[in-house]
Amino acid sequence: MNQENLYLQLKSEIEKAQSIIIFSHVNPDGDTIGSNLALKLIIERQFGKKADSVFIGKLPGVYSYLPAFEQFIDAKNINPEKVYDLAISVDVAAQDRMVYGCPIYDKAKFKVNIDHHQTNIGYGDLNIIEPTACVGVILHKIFKEWNCNIDIEVARCIYTSLLTDTGGFRYENTTPEAFMIASELVEAGVSPSHEFRVCYETKPQNMVQFQAYIVFNTIFYNNGKIAVTKITRSDMSRFNATEDFSEGIVEVLRTCKNVEIAVILKETLEGYTKVSLRSKTVDIIPIVLEFGGGGHKFAAGCTIKKPLAIAYEKLLQRIQSELKCEII
Ligand code: AMP
Ligand code: MN
Ligand code: MN
Repeated sequence: MNQENLYLQLKSEIEKAQSIIIFSHVNPDGDTIGSNLALKLIIERQFGKKADSVFIGKLPGVYSYLPAFEQFIDAKNINPEKVYDLAISVDVAAQDRMVYGCPIYDKAKFKVNIDHHQTNIGYGDLNIIEPTACVGVILHKIFKEWNCNIDIEVARCIYTSLLTDTGGFRYENTTPEAFMIASELVEAGVSPSHEFRVCYETKPQNMVQFQAYIVFNTIFYNNGKIAVTKITRSDMSRFNATEDFSEGIVEVLRTCKNVEIAVILKETLEGYTKVSLRSKTVDIIPIVLEFGGGGHKFAAGCTIKKPLAIAYEKLLQRIQSELKCEII
């Protein structure tokens, strides 16, 4: 089936549904939050139906400038017995990224999966997966196909999704289509300088200091080709850090001239290790797949069910072998 037919199938599922829920991935970031709210607003305004936007884990306060942000519900607070007519996931690479939201998604009468991860296996009844595009781009195309009016509030949500996913219009997904859509959103009233300020220049002071400290602790291996840093629970308590404080650190490590692969390992509350990997030119998907993770060619992640020190060693060796470096 071509993409336009998939878009129309989604439209008819929304028209049929009496109850709708939209999922973001665990510890949501800007692209999943912006996409989730844009879809919620369109369902409410163009279809006249209610849609519950849900998150899993911690919702970062930085996005509170977005319309309808305060209506986000923790999936924990949804009655686990409730059967929705329609469940839609946005930017959720794998079903287990909905963690405690999974049973609610699974129970729904019809499941839709809108995503841009190459590693997505298509776990929905309807799968709209476009690996080279931003989720914001996919949604904008869907809304256009449905002849929706993209008002300023919807436009701001899509813009945040695009801005954060492209790293401020810098990464490979900064396509002509992304720029064209951004231009339409600006025409609709979005102010790029304002959105940049509220999105990137509102960090708490202790977050900036925490990030500087974690960057300072970076260890460089193999002539600086690999940069690795870590976050322990004690680092977190020292700075009174919340989970979202680690956002953006790994991208700073990648800014070093020689760095090919940058890594951040974070000790989780359960004593496991959450890993974020970034690369300049090397495909890191094979590395994260070995550890049960997923993502994109140059930005991927996984959670290793081992203590930080063990995960660190295993992952470093795997990266060194991928780069054909000396294992040290
Ligand atoms: P992060 O490093 O958490 O910012 O994630 C980088 C990219 O990899 C994002 O697109 C994530 O959705 C994806 N990703 C991170 N962890 C996982 C995982 N455990 N399984 C699948 N995809 C993941
Ligand atoms: Mn995301
Ligand atoms: Mn994404």
